[in-house]
Amino acid sequence: MSNVLIVIDAPDSKVAKVAGELATYGKRLGTVTAVVIAPSDVTAQLSNLSIVTALIAGGISFTDNGVAAAVDAVVAAFDSVKPDVVLIASGVRGKEIAARLAVRRECGLITDAVDIDADRITTQSIFGGSTTVHATVTHGAAVVTLRSNTIDVVAGSGPATTTPLAVTASTSTIKSKVISIEPAVSGGRPELTEAKIVVSGGRGTDGNFAPIEELADAMGAAVGASRAATDAGWYPHSHQVGQTGKTVSPSLYIACGISGAIQHRAGMQTSKMIVAINKDAEAPIFDLADYGVVGDLFAVVPQATAAIKAKK
Ligand code: FAD
Repeated sequence: MSNVLIVIDAPDSKVAKVAGELATYGKRLGTVTAVVIAPSDVTAQLSNLSIVTALIAGGISFTDNGVAAAVDAVVAAFDSVKPDVVLIASGVRGKEIAARLAVRRECGLITDAVDIDADRITTQSIFGGSTTVHATVTHGAAVVTLRSNTIDVVAGSGPATTTPLAVTASTSTIKSKVISIEPAVSGGRPELTEAKIVVSGGRGTDGNFAPIEELADAMGAAVGASRAATDAGWYPHSHQVGQTGKTVSPSLYIACGISGAIQHRAGMQTSKMIVAINKDAEAPIFDLADYGVVGDLFAVVPQATAAIKAKK
């Protein structure tokens, strides 16, 4: 039985999802303690998960001091819990926290895992999904970042015991200060890396993302794009999926007018179900897709949107 520390570092609206997924992984390994880094009281969202103790980090401003303050909180929790395994949600910020923790406490680090088993063996899917890697940490505690949407949340018994965790800012933390934060305007759609459904458009859209957005809105999905589409200025780079864009693992990924280049696959091939719409029956995306429609996306996508709306 391992001693597992999970890091809950997420906006209030995402705490339940992050906590649920990490606690479900953590339960496989042993006893789960959570360190909670959140500006407001989110303890209610930690009930009915397999979290035995939740350490509520305080005594430091996570807003003013950015990621460095979060690392101070995780290090304080690490020193208190002395875990065998630390689980953190993958993402730019999660991986930065993981790397800094690994350096400060001389731990081994594995990033972007899509699974971890009871023996601390992780699974990573690399090179556009063409290679599966199994790895384990051989020095110190295992610090592992896990992609979101890679596990179904299993409810646990009872609420966690909550305990305050006093955190002191390290000298590196006080060397910089966040002056202001302006959240990006999301347009009401889910965040790309967190969405359960992603509808993506490529060069085949010819710059017209209206059908892609209409299908996404009908399904409550996020909108993604290939690099061909973002480089052409048809859609913001922040929505690019792939090797040099974002990595997504939704339950459903719908690729419209995207050929399926390896660099695009690198960002979406761990999706649970992939649907491709492409007018070229030989397009490589069909090798990866669970379902495919050979046809013009401007004919197929609006029909799908209309059918979904009719079902509502
Ligand atoms: P294309 O490959 O041009 O495919 C367009 C597809 O649309 C074709 O299959 C065509 O049959 C179909 N089509 C055309 N018209 C229609 C229609 N009306 N209806 C239906 N189908 C239609 N790419 C990424 O996406 N993400 C990355 O992060 C990324 N990183 C890269 C990093 C490096 C170092 C390099 C070298 C490349 C990277 N690329 C990345 C680029 C990648 O190699 C491809 O060029 C790119 O993914 C192609 O985008 P696409 O599929 O939209 O365009």
